[in-house]
Amino acid sequence: MNSPTTFPTKAEQKVQFENNKLEKRLCRQVGEAIGDYNMIEDGDKVMVCLSGGKDSYAMLDILLKLRERAPIHFDIVAVNLDQKQPGFPEQVLPAYLTELGVPFHIETQNTYSIVTRVIEEGKTTCGLCSRLRRGILYRVADELGATKIALGHHRDDILETFLLNLFYGGKLKAMPPKLVSDVKKHVVIRPLAYVQEKDLERYAQIKQFPIIPCNLCGSQENLQRQAMKTMLNEWDKKFTGRVENMFAAMSSVVPSHLLDGKLFDFKGLTVDTEVEQGDVAFDEEPCGTNSTEPLELNDLNTIRPQTIQFV
Ligand code: SF4
Repeated sequence: MNSPTTFPTKAEQKVQFENNKLEKRLCRQVGEAIGDYNMIEDGDKVMVCLSGGKDSYAMLDILLKLRERAPIHFDIVAVNLDQKQPGFPEQVLPAYLTELGVPFHIETQNTYSIVTRVIEEGKTTCGLCSRLRRGILYRVADELGATKIALGHHRDDILETFLLNLFYGGKLKAMPPKLVSDVKKHVVIRPLAYVQEKDLERYAQIKQFPIIPCNLCGSQENLQRQAMKTMLNEWDKKFTGRVENMFAAMSSVVPSHLLDGKLFDFKGLTVDTEVEQGDVAFDEEPCGTNSTEPLELNDLNTIRPQTIQFV
C-alpha cells in the first residue's frame, strides 16, 4: 500500500520561501562582489581557505553553486590549516569535504606550540598566529598551483576593520575585497565582501554546517573588535540604513573633499580644476536641510546666515 502523501504546512512553506530567498541573496551578493572586483577569471584555481567556521563553510558552499552556472571555468580546492590547537576535531573537515566531493588539502603545522612558546602568557597571540598562518597559506597556494586565495571575511568584518582604523589607527582604511601579497605572488580575494554576518549565521543554521568552535586556541577575543561589532549591531537595530550607508560610503570616496594631499592635488587646485561634486558639500550639513540636492536661492533666503557652515 502506498503511504499517504504529506504536503508542507503553510508555516513550512513560509520557512522554505525565506530560506530560498536567503540563498538567492547570498549568491547574488557573492556574484556581484566577484564581478565588481574581477575576483575570479577563466582558468583560475581558487584555493578556498576553510577554518571550520560559519563564514568559510558558506563561502565554499556558495562558490560551488556559482561555479555550476558561471560562464567561465574555474577550479576549487579547499584548504584547512590544522594548527594543532588543543581539542581540534581533525576528522570533521575531511569527512565533510569527502562527502561533498570537493578536492581538499589539510595542512598540518603546529603553530599553536610556536605561538604559546614565544608569546608571554596573558598577551594576545593573534598577531604572530596570523602572520604564521598567512605564510603557510601562501606556500600551500604555491604548492597547489592556486591562482587565487579566497578568504571568508564578510561585510561586517570590513566595517569593523574600518572603524578600528578610524578610532585607533588614525587611518581611513578597511579590508580590501582583493589584494596582492607583499611578495607580489598571490592574489587574495574576499568573495563575501558584500554579505552580512547575520545572513551567514542563518545560512549556517539552515545548512547545518559542522561548525568547529573558534576559541580552541584559548586566545582572548579581540575586545576592541568586539566593541565595534556591538556598536554596529546597535546602530543596525536603532537607525535604519545607517550601516548600509557606511558600507556604501566605502565605495563612494570623494578625495577632493577629504584632506589627503596624496589623493588630491590641493596645492595645484585652481579655478580651472574640474572637481568631483564641486562645492555641493557646503550645503550638506547635518544641522542644515536634509536635502541631498544643492540649495536653491529661495532656500538660502529662509536660512539664517549662521546656520551655513563652511567646513
Ligand atoms: S584567535 Fe587563536 S587561532 Fe585565531 S588568530 Fe588568534 S591566536 Fe590564532
